[in-house]
Amino acid sequence: THQPDALSRQFAPVTNEDEKEKPILPPTCIVGALTWEIEKVVRDAQRQEPDPGTGPKGKLYVPATAHSQVIHWAHTAKFSCHPGKNRTVSFLRRLFWWPSLVLDVQNYVAACLVCARNKTSNSPASGLLRPLPTPKRPWSHIALDFVTGLPPSSSNTSILTIIDRFSKAAHFIALPKLPSALETAQLLTQHVFRLHGIPQDIVSDRRPQFTSRVWKEFCAELGAQVSLSSGFHPQTNGQTERANQELEAMLRCVASSNQATWSEQLAWVEYAHNASTSSATGLSPFEALLGY
Ligand SMILES: [Zn+2]
Repeated sequence: THQPDALSRQFAPVTNEDEKEKPILPPTCIVGALTWEIEKVVRDAQRQEPDPGTGPKGKLYVPATAHSQVIHWAHTAKFSCHPGKNRTVSFLRRLFWWPSLVLDVQNYVAACLVCARNKTSNSPASGLLRPLPTPKRPWSHIALDFVTGLPPSSSNTSILTIIDRFSKAAHFIALPKLPSALETAQLLTQHVFRLHGIPQDIVSDRRPQFTSRVWKEFCAELGAQVSLSSGFHPQTNGQTERANQELEAMLRCVASSNQATWSEQLAWVEYAHNASTSSATGLSPFEALLGY
């Protein structure tokens, strides 16, 4: 199942059940097929310690000699960005298996220095808080926040994070400084509304005045009535804060290990977040949004 032609087969249209196994395009037509270098490492190790055949179907068995290399790859790759234990496990399980996978990942992540330097404990949000409305579709309710004080990378020192509260999908925008409310509204139009439509409300753990001004600017741009009672929540239930803490930790990991280049890598970090299983939904944001 990990042969390149298995991948190309998925993209070729199938007209008849019996034809499913036959590639319609000849192999000479395939310009690119994706395989990971790490699979070769695992297959080489399997020559010493073959697959016992007791694992889940379609997953590659990882022999003991390759455990640490495979975990290191899954946890630190460009498109992975130091996810926590659970996310590292669910990412690995898409491709691999071995009996002590969970325990090995736990030990690896607990010993990761980059994680230790950049992640603080998840303290619960303080204060009493009004429950947020639960969204019923993607991108109707968004949360925005900023990560500031990062080392300059192409003159950027801050990141605007926008989270879809339904799917937990995120967009990250690198910025040279904190934007004004008007600039934030324009960034949202350019980077979010253009792609996902107009939201019903925006929340932020920033100062309430700021969020309310962003919402006003946004409504003014649309020519819509400003309704602060429906579109604006001065308090949150800690859900966005928790999500922000995790994102902020991930972004700080990337920025601290790539001080001068983090802003160029932001697209990979966004991909990493959107492809990782979210503990809130049990799906990755891509799966929740797109079905795959
Ligand atoms: Zn780490």
